[in-house]
Amino acid sequence: MSEATHIVAIDGPAGAGKSTCAKRVAKALGFAFLDTGAMYRAATWWALHQGISLEDPDALSESTRRMELDIHESDSGQRVVVNGQDVTQAIRTPEVTRLIYKLDQNSAVRRHLVELQRRFGERAPTVAEGRDIGTVVFPKARCKIYLDASIEARAQRRALELEAKGMTVDRNTLAAEIHERDEQSKNRKDSPLRKAEDALLVDTTHMTQDEVVAEIVRLARERL
Ligand code: C5P
Repeated sequence: MSEATHIVAIDGPAGAGKSTCAKRVAKALGFAFLDTGAMYRAATWWALHQGISLEDPDALSESTRRMELDIHESDSGQRVVVNGQDVTQAIRTPEVTRLIYKLDQNSAVRRHLVELQRRFGERAPTVAEGRDIGTVVFPKARCKIYLDASIEARAQRRALELEAKGMTVDRNTLAAEIHERDEQSKNRKDSPLRKAEDALLVDTTHMTQDEVVAEIVRLARERL
């Protein structure tokens, strides 16, 4: 099976709706779902948990390589397990989110996680979402989508998500954090967030989730 024919690559900035939509698209197509952000989150959590200095690039790459990562579907949704510990919730805390940039610029960390992602994609038809799927991980994917939305819409969605989990959030702070993460992702040297030339832009600012899912499924069926 060739990666080019059976991968739907979905990239875009924080809060554009990638995760939820990609998961639903995978279900509709009967494909596996690969949440690459969860891998960077897990690596960050693992480094923090072990007390590793986030300023030490060699220690970070070493700890990422030693991480036993298991991401699987369960009845209650996706579970992320690191070295036997369920960290599904722990990797979504604001602290982890704020510190991921310390790892996502580390080329050795990226190389290792990209390798795991490619192996995952070789095993089954996959909908993969992240920041560099269409540009770096699966550059030959035939269906590439770049999801975007205004910063206000993205902050509003993130706020609703976090509030649903019982967290209190200030929308302006959230918008500022999203903007900062955009800048970090777009300006990093290794694998910056950008739309692949052959990716289709879907602006979700004024779209419902159902509309986004339907549009991606339509594009995927057309291209695969
Ligand atoms: O998608 P999510 O918000 O969970 O991603 C968390 C972070 O992981 C991103 O802000 C980015 O720093 C990093 N990331 C990355 N490359 C990917 C996926 C995520 O650098 N393919």
